[in-house]
Amino acid sequence: MQNQDSNYIIQVKNLSISFGDKQVLNNVSFNVKKGDTLGIVGESGSGKSLTSLAVMGLLSPAAKINPESEILFRLQDEMVDLLKLSPKELEKIRGNEMGMIFQEPMTSLNPSLRCGEQVEEAIKLHLKLPKSQLKKEVISLFEQVKLPNPERIYKAYPHELSGGQKQRVMIAMAISCKPKLLIADEPTTALDVTVQKATLDLLKELQEKNGMSMLFISHDLGVIANVCEEVLVMFRGDVVEQGNVATIFNNPKENYTKGLIACRP
Ligand code: ADP
Ligand code: MG
Repeated sequence: MQNQDSNYIIQVKNLSISFGDKQVLNNVSFNVKKGDTLGIVGESGSGKSLTSLAVMGLLSPAAKINPESEILFRLQDEMVDLLKLSPKELEKIRGNEMGMIFQEPMTSLNPSLRCGEQVEEAIKLHLKLPKSQLKKEVISLFEQVKLPNPERIYKAYPHELSGGQKQRVMIAMAISCKPKLLIADEPTTALDVTVQKATLDLLKELQEKNGMSMLFISHDLGVIANVCEEVLVMFRGDVVEQGNVATIFNNPKENYTKGLIACRP
């Protein structure tokens, strides 16, 4: 068992979260292997975002994490419990090892700052570069996420871009620190169907090329099946089913999962 652990980038054990006396996440446990993508699927309110925010250390102060919970993250050859770190230590790991993209690129981007400057700010958090180098780095990131005309995007304000382009700027920002783990929380939900597929393809390509691990959250099992091999099915704070996506998709054991599949558009 000890040897197998060296395959993991992250191991979440018995993660439970309460607000006041209401427990909303119940003993959630999962592992993500280095270079793999784990999907988390479940209807709205099932605890997917709370799980990802806990991993990032970005829960609101009102959220109380049960003391038995562990979130072990790989730093070189040891697993460090993120829940036992100081806010400063956690910030450093978040800045250097993790990236995150959310559902709404519009609310994550600052409307009054040019896209290039926003990515520069993200780079500056973990890298000291002279101004001219910074711009080069941004243009290179825009090329990696396949944004057309990177020079134009660099100078553009968010409202001048399409939804898919804004999400690509967010992805550029998230991968700017060359993260070991990328957390994508409903990254295509707010996008037109036509750009969803292209965005998923890009994420898959970046994940493979950079050897990144990914935690991919969606309420749509079809989207998960497109990107992930393993999936965690959540319902009202519980993990109801876990395993290979194709197996669960073709032969769901739990009624809830059967419902999720039946409800697909
Ligand atoms: P999902 O991402 O699966 O839609 P969330 O993780 O956002 O679900 O939320 C899980 C549950 O936790 C929901 O029932 C939600 O109402 C509750 N919750 C989330 N954030 C808060 C909060 N700040 N205060 C109280 N309850 C919250
Ligand atoms: Mg959510």
